[in-house]
Amino acid sequence: MNKSKLNQFIIYLLENNFVIAPQYDSEGFLHLNKLENPKDFALVSKLPLDSWKWHMLPPDQKMFEYKGNKMQEVLPQIKSQVFLGVSILDLQALTLLNQVFEKDPYYQKIKKKTIIIGTSSVPEENFYQFFEKFEEHKLEHLQFDVFLAVQKTGYKIFTGSEDGQRLLDKFGHKDYQHIEYAGPIREEGLDAQMVAIKDAMQNNHQQKIWDDLGARCIQCGKCTIACPVCFCFRIYDQSDLVKGTGRRSRCWDSCFYNEFTQVAGPAPKEPKHRFINTAAERIYFWYEHHFVRTPQSFSIPGCVGCGRCTQVCPANIDIKQTIQDILKNKKTKNAQ
Ligand code: SF4
Ligand code: SF4
Repeated sequence: MNKSKLNQFIIYLLENNFVIAPQYDSEGFLHLNKLENPKDFALVSKLPLDSWKWHMLPPDQKMFEYKGNKMQEVLPQIKSQVFLGVSILDLQALTLLNQVFEKDPYYQKIKKKTIIIGTSSVPEENFYQFFEKFEEHKLEHLQFDVFLAVQKTGYKIFTGSEDGQRLLDKFGHKDYQHIEYAGPIREEGLDAQMVAIKDAMQNNHQQKIWDDLGARCIQCGKCTIACPVCFCFRIYDQSDLVKGTGRRSRCWDSCFYNEFTQVAGPAPKEPKHRFINTAAERIYFWYEHHFVRTPQSFSIPGCVGCGRCTQVCPANIDIKQTIQDILKNKKTKNAQ
């Protein structure tokens, strides 16, 4: 597909869909926004600061409401939407969210209405070997509908679903190769770096690293908001006693916030018990979630190496540096 045909394809998408794409704002920041003009689509190797999670897993979502004793589930009401220009790192993030929310009706309703168009641009911020360059064989483990592999004079087109094939057929573009999704787990398992971090965290707890980070972290939770794979949420209720109505909703939460790890009991001595209390414990818990628990539960990386957490951290905590420290201390300990 050449550049002019891609332009026509985007115009075609805009006619029938709500299209979200990376675009530069007036101050030069790259954001995900509703696309109005194909010219504004920024097909670049930089990542937008906000991730696609905002549009697949809304920050605040009503689940059901009731009046008297009549309850009604509230599924998201969305028209068909297109995510245009999803980098391979963010495709990996969405592939993980798809596993986590596989049985979640709210997430699935949005997913069914979403066409994902990936691109092979590899972001500069990337620090994982697996994604350091685009290779076609990696596509079979990523979930997408259409994929644009950037070439010198245009784009090689792949489809990853029947929806993607239908879309291109309707548009009138037949020159594509179909990739059958083989599931998120690669035959060779986790990449070597992820295995090394996981082993280091599991077999060699280095308290000094977490104490040092804990002394700097102000527990603002910005890293969890920016992260494309942080998915923790809490449930809350709003009730009106006079009208007899109410609703239950869920919203994003963060393991850096005090209330997140608060549980009831043991009463009466500690009616508000917390199972992690210090900044050092919280930051360890966050890293453990990404590098130990998620790979253990899903056999895929719990961090895609996008660097958004580093970019937003007011305490300059750099995930790449932390990983180097974890691996360096492991080597030092092994050498002793
Ligand atoms: S963004 Fe930085 S300071 Fe804020 S919670 Fe995350 S690690 Fe801590
Ligand atoms: S680099 Fe940071 S923001 Fe990106 S996926 Fe990993 S933990 Fe999340």
